[in-house]
Amino acid sequence: MPRPIQAIIHTDALRHNLRRLRAAAPGARLWAVVKANAYGHGIERAYEGLRGADGFALLDLAEAERARDLELCSRLALWHAVHGDEQIDWLAMHKTHAPHHVFLKLNSGMNRLGFAPERFRAAHARLSALPQVGEISLMTHFSDADGDKGIAGQWAVFQRVTDGLPGERSVCNSAATLRHAQDAAVRADWVRPGIAAYGGSPDFPTHDAAHWGLRPTMTLTSKLIASGALQTGDSVGYGSTFTAAQPMRVRVAACGYAAGSPLHAPTGTPEPVDGARPRLLGRVSMDRLTVDLDPVPQAGPGSAVTLWGQGLPIDEVAHAAGTIGYELMCALAPRVPVVVEA
Ligand SMILES: *Cc1c(COP(=O)(O)O)cnc(C)c1O
Repeated sequence: MPRPIQAIIHTDALRHNLRRLRAAAPGARLWAVVKANAYGHGIERAYEGLRGADGFALLDLAEAERARDLELCSRLALWHAVHGDEQIDWLAMHKTHAPHHVFLKLNSGMNRLGFAPERFRAAHARLSALPQVGEISLMTHFSDADGDKGIAGQWAVFQRVTDGLPGERSVCNSAATLRHAQDAAVRADWVRPGIAAYGGSPDFPTHDAAHWGLRPTMTLTSKLIASGALQTGDSVGYGSTFTAAQPMRVRVAACGYAAGSPLHAPTGTPEPVDGARPRLLGRVSMDRLTVDLDPVPQAGPGSAVTLWGQGLPIDEVAHAAGTIGYELMCALAPRVPVVVEA
């Protein structure tokens, strides 16, 4: 018998979220960010739901470490980000099939990738002089679009440094698209939402996905496989982190951290069973987790348990486990069977 665990990809919800993001950035073109294997969904599986985007944004090729990848960019007409001098060196050495369309990345304060403000224009001049380079667009990435610090500081740097340079511009990730793209200059020519396309709120717990009109695009489900009763003083799971204060009914579900359920979810994390929300009890183990069934008297072996997705926002589970929805989605284990809902 196959193990009763399954992830469902909701194609309609992907389409819905893209429409929602387009509405947040009217007039801008939209890249669906599909790095980390489409945030754990699988690029092939998410493709149908995301094909309405104007393009797909990946990070791996942009971070190409070998000139061979540049060859591939030109052959496949991929656009790529240039964030360091060594990439310009590679471009200069490289024979192109067709001129590259590059995105020159400014480090406006994230301090991860990109040219420092004082070096950006020199990089632009170098790129402009290369016959291998056709169009040059300008980009940066915000570190705090989801929080109180906001984008004002980085946005001012981007505007100052790129002032007067030709080319299209792109600055918005999900949080900036939803929170700051009312400003037409900020939404610019392209927005690059990732997490919001997959139905995660970029600024949970300030706003949840429902607030932003986003729908979950992946549901991880399992079934209850065994039941038991705890007496007062009985504990549950490795490390005995939960001890029953009174007699209670418990059930074990066939899902654990090896599937992607967060190991660090504490007792109390909700796990919907038959629509109700009992608590997780004790530690999650490799293939098992235990829930308190007293709130759901009708539940028993075979009842469906939702680990996250429709019925239980992934952001809530992640928050309870001290992480973010991005991490849970991306860590969906390869051995979990996935079905794509048309
Ligand atoms: C990951 C990433 C995005 C998308 O970020 P979300 O917060 O998931 O919307 C956009 N742009 C760049 C450069 C990224 O690395």
